[in-house]
Amino acid sequence: MRHTRSSQNTLETDVLVLGAGLAGLRAAMAAKETAPDLRVTLVSPHARPAGSSFANRNNALGLQVPQPHEADAFVAEALRLAAPGLAVPELVQALAEDAPACLEFLLSLGLAFRCDPDGSLRRFPGCFSSIPRAVVFDGLAQAHAAILARARALGVEVVHGFEALALTQEEPGARVSGAVLSALRGPLAGRRTLAVRARSVVAALGGPAPLFARRICGPGGSGLAYGLLASAGARLVNTTFLQWFWVETRSLAFVNPGELVWPSQLAHLAQARLAHCPMAHGLVLDDAALDLDLISRQGPGGVVHVEHRQRGPLDLVLAAHAGNGGALIDIHGRTSVAGLYACGECASGMHGANRLGGGMVLSALAFGARAGKAAAEETATVEAAGKPDQDRDGSWPNVGADRGADMGAKTGQEASTGLLRWLRPGMQRFGLPGAAQNPARQAFVARLRSITDVAQDDFRAGRRERLLARSALAILEGSSVQDGQS
Ligand SMILES: Cc1cc2nc3c(=O)[nH]c(=O)nc-3n(C[C@H](O)[C@H](O)[C@H](O)COP(=O)(O)OP(=O)(O)OC[C@H]3O[C@@H](n4cnc5c(N)ncnc54)[C@H](O)[C@@H]3O)c2cc1C
Repeated sequence: MRHTRSSQNTLETDVLVLGAGLAGLRAAMAAKETAPDLRVTLVSPHARPAGSSFANRNNALGLQVPQPHEADAFVAEALRLAAPGLAVPELVQALAEDAPACLEFLLSLGLAFRCDPDGSLRRFPGCFSSIPRAVVFDGLAQAHAAILARARALGVEVVHGFEALALTQEEPGARVSGAVLSALRGPLAGRRTLAVRARSVVAALGGPAPLFARRICGPGGSGLAYGLLASAGARLVNTTFLQWFWVETRSLAFVNPGELVWPSQLAHLAQARLAHCPMAHGLVLDDAALDLDLISRQGPGGVVHVEHRQRGPLDLVLAAHAGNGGALIDIHGRTSVAGLYACGECASGMHGANRLGGGMVLSALAFGARAGKAAAEETATVEAAGKPDQDRDGSWPNVGADRGADMGAKTGQEASTGLLRWLRPGMQRFGLPGAAQNPARQAFVARLRSITDVAQDDFRAGRRERLLARSALAILEGSSVQDGQS
């Protein structure tokens, strides 16, 4: 079924999915599988493989797949890594239940899984686990092509070249009824918006690593997710927790701190050390003292001079990899805001201070499928996406006076480039454990607040900047799953 274009810059659909990584594609497909007659629209800023799912530098992804008899051990291990009270057991249990179906889904696409000589899937221990439960596939561009083709074959309509800059609501916290998209390319880039009205919306917007000066997420991420979700009034949790890697300054090659020369009081921690580091703020994970020591020795640009046991002197920096936080969801992928679902790296509750290697791909697929299904089912209870309300002084609720309007002399992305030049080094400096006491951090936070305080209803006054600043504040000041519990 085709979309109805009620006017030049509006689009109506039933289920709107924002973001086309593994989570968004899986959600869009699940919505179509659940209700083939529904209109399902997937917004993807880039036509090429992008984001951490399809453009990450490893060109491979691992997926935790506990066998049914391993489910309890998997849940216990994931909850232990998350740290007490920081993950919701029900959500972790859902991961264990859905893992076989997630693997089945990827196998059905004919992806290039690593196999043993007898043809069976090779099992690896994911990071932070000694149990070989994870499987790995290579070739992310091929995976992207295969999944996109399957989604299109199901009838998912893909809108390329736009990014979401607002979720449409009467007011923050009220039901979400669509999104406002901004064009990224072409002569109208950043100046033209497209208002999409939908009966349910799935946010699959990726993680926060693009907000940091040093990052190893795939290109094509925006870092807007936390800002968009927070602006809509969704409850965010665990946003202070990111996964990091120490990398060589020039090549960005991973360096395992366990392979460095350490003073005797820290050497015992280096023995079982991984390159991956969760860096949980305020929580002492087993070997966090190594990271804190390196951080305390950072010089300009965050560079640390170290001595590698085999390779001699090296310069390292800490690179943001992925976030563990996001909108708190329930087992159906519902956020705290009606009509709004979340999945993938912008959703949380299943991960805490740390997570199992291979756990993020599992949660992107598992909660992508759950969110897409529930979003499709919910449409039966919501009035059809009709003609956008034309009687509100030409404005969209909670978005302001912009529907296809000129956003000003600079495009949204150009304008935010200036902000990012300041924001990313600041996040690199103040978004790390141990930075909380730094007096300069307060000034940084105050400036971020001053950006977010600009009138919310003025869509043209740097909406993208406000969302980026809000995302950054979510990391610097975020609350955890525990904070909302009475
Ligand atoms: C190097 C590397 C290796 C990794 N290896 C593993 C692994 O082996 N196993 C594992 O479990 N995890 C791994 N991860 C993490 C995992 O890849 C990601 O967490 C996961 O793929 C995220 O999927 P996603 O769909 O949520 O986000 P992404 O794949 O990042 O997709 C987000 C999508 O949202 C789009 N988008 C962004 N902003 C907007 C907007 N405003 N409007 C519309 N669309 C928007 C982006 O363009 C993109 O299409 C790795 C990450 C990295 C960086």
